[in-house]
Amino acid sequence: MEKSKKQRAISGIRPTGKLHLGHLIGVLDNWREMQENFKCFFFVADWHALTTEYDDPSKIKVYSKEMVLDWLAAGIDPEKGIIFLQSDIKEHAELYLMLSMIVPIPWLERVPSYKEIKEELTNKDLSTYGFLGYPVLQASDILIYKADVVPVGIDQVPHVELTREIARRFNNLYGTETFVEPQAKLTVTPKLLGLDGRKMGKSYNNCIYLSDPREVVSEKVMHMMTDPLRVKRSDCGDPEVSIVFGYHKIFSPHEKVKEIGEKCRTAQIGCVECKKELIKNLWGYLEQFQFRRSDISKKWKDVDDIFFEGGKKAREFSSKTIKEIKEAMKII
Ligand code: SF4
Repeated sequence: MEKSKKQRAISGIRPTGKLHLGHLIGVLDNWREMQENFKCFFFVADWHALTTEYDDPSKIKVYSKEMVLDWLAAGIDPEKGIIFLQSDIKEHAELYLMLSMIVPIPWLERVPSYKEIKEELTNKDLSTYGFLGYPVLQASDILIYKADVVPVGIDQVPHVELTREIARRFNNLYGTETFVEPQAKLTVTPKLLGLDGRKMGKSYNNCIYLSDPREVVSEKVMHMMTDPLRVKRSDCGDPEVSIVFGYHKIFSPHEKVKEIGEKCRTAQIGCVECKKELIKNLWGYLEQFQFRRSDISKKWKDVDDIFFEGGKKAREFSSKTIKEIKEAMKII
């Protein structure tokens, strides 16, 4: 009885490569908390991976399984949340097709990330139907489970808004209340930027990966952006514009953060010393994750079982929703 009262939440990650620190801090830490209070659907968005990796999708399968091992190491529990592979649930594609019929193209063209990603990923040809339509696939992922909330970063809020518009349009068109309008749940974790101050992402080559060994982490931190106006050791700095300080806020003890902030402003600490302190604290955190991950690596074969079991549970919902949709459209 208690369980059925829980709100539903859905979130997925595209398996396009190794996970980085931004995933752990920005997404997985949040999932771990949510799995205690929501009925969670966590999915490997392998169809979404195809939107940018269509020219060589051969690694998606391996990345998918590796990624789930990272999730387990981060404390995501298949007993608490439903973990599944998007392409195992054909209803996502079926709903995507149906929604494609009712979504006006200008709605998709005005999604901010459509233009942004196209401009940023200049090495890919993204003038495809699949890339334009991926927010409709996202809407299907959400609506098929009638999710109440979608945990997102601020840049993903327009996608949830679009999903709400699509849900409304469907309900209005067919005079039904089939779809619940989902709410965006902004992640409370501070945003972890990439080494260069842009959003952390593989395509920007600015990530600290969860699998990076200590030497690599050290080297990356040493190249991390500081206050650009602090040129000499004797210059007073502004920690709030320093990427390094943003990391301290997440990985260093509260007292240390306060001390570094003050010392930076009064030029009592140099950037090298400040970065060395960060390396120590950041590595302490990452090392713990890597210990758990190396233990969990033995469970490679179990990922198929997780997908199988999670897929069964997800399908219970998705097949029911598809039936309701067809009834509402009178095409059953
Ligand atoms: S001292 Fe630390 S916080 Fe201040 S600018 Fe240098 S790296 Fe950034």
